[in-house]
Amino acid sequence: MYDSDGDLDTVNDCTSFEFYEDFLPGLNSEDIDVTADLVYLPPDVDEWENIIIDDKVILIDIFYAWAHQEDILALGNPKARIYHFSGDYSGVTDYMGTWYSWSGTFLVIKESVAEDLMQLEESNPAGIVQISLDTYVGPLTSRNVIGSLPGTTNPEKKLVIGAHYDSVWGFGANDNAAGTATVMEIAQTLAQTARFQSPVTIEFVAFGAEEKGLVGSFTYVFEHIIDEILAGNVIAAINFDVNGYGMSTGLRIGCHARWPGHYDPVFDEYMKEVAHSIDYDFATWTGGGYSDDFPFIIAEVPATCIVWVDEAEWVGPLHSTGDTKETVEPEYLGICAEVTAAGAMRLANAGEFPPPNGEE
Ligand SMILES: [Zn+2]
Repeated sequence: MYDSDGDLDTVNDCTSFEFYEDFLPGLNSEDIDVTADLVYLPPDVDEWENIIIDDKVILIDIFYAWAHQEDILALGNPKARIYHFSGDYSGVTDYMGTWYSWSGTFLVIKESVAEDLMQLEESNPAGIVQISLDTYVGPLTSRNVIGSLPGTTNPEKKLVIGAHYDSVWGFGANDNAAGTATVMEIAQTLAQTARFQSPVTIEFVAFGAEEKGLVGSFTYVFEHIIDEILAGNVIAAINFDVNGYGMSTGLRIGCHARWPGHYDPVFDEYMKEVAHSIDYDFATWTGGGYSDDFPFIIAEVPATCIVWVDEAEWVGPLHSTGDTKETVEPEYLGICAEVTAAGAMRLANAGEFPPPNGEE
């Protein structure tokens, strides 16, 4: 817990929660055996017109799939999905393992295995591919680690700055030690900035179990602070995920690849203005998926996600053993921290979002 005078006393606000690995009902509830036709979806939506995917197993580039969730849903309802990585993607093992998502069961493989599968499919007119997915289901425990900078005049009002600290299949340097480090840096800087006495409480949260389906942030929003949200006391939330890799102009505020209503364009715009005001250029990410800002948005708290992307609008070597610290550009974390600290100071002084006119 940070005092308002900037001392770090203890960080003992860890709140644990139990969850089941298949928190999304029914997706990984039991061992799943799927036997079905394999259908390849090329990375060009225009070529999908006559493809039938109902009750089939689809094979598709993982990043293209993430960017085109809606188009896949519009096409039909596949039994399962096989996602493959493309190109020079370090750290990918042959079979990365099974995974869940809001879209159903899927398996992740590397490109050469995908090529083998496609050849098999072409040489076999019946096109039957059988996959068996073994899943473990059982209780696990995780924790949200929370540090609080108490507000001076309106401590009941709260701003949240967070990032998840769990990772997948590797070191998790970008996804998401980078985000967690950014949160800690902002916490330390704001707590030690003598000139900045926040009128409202700023809560810094390292979320657990994001990769299991935003479990930590859902728990935080709907169990830990739901009363404060319902009382109108949670001003906004800013989340970082994968913000250390990519091109120099890769700062992205908001992820608009999600379904409309699942992101907050008004708050995204506000944070973009903040970035502009301190001379950083940015855009909104039109790819991407869900992160820990999502539960806040469901609870109607203004929220955004800050990410860093590469030219092809992807987020680097995440979810693999290639996600090492060598791929993290510390300067990017600094920029994310600067933009967020600037936004947090404005919001803290305004005490509400949107800020009342002329009072910023
Ligand atoms: Zn992440």
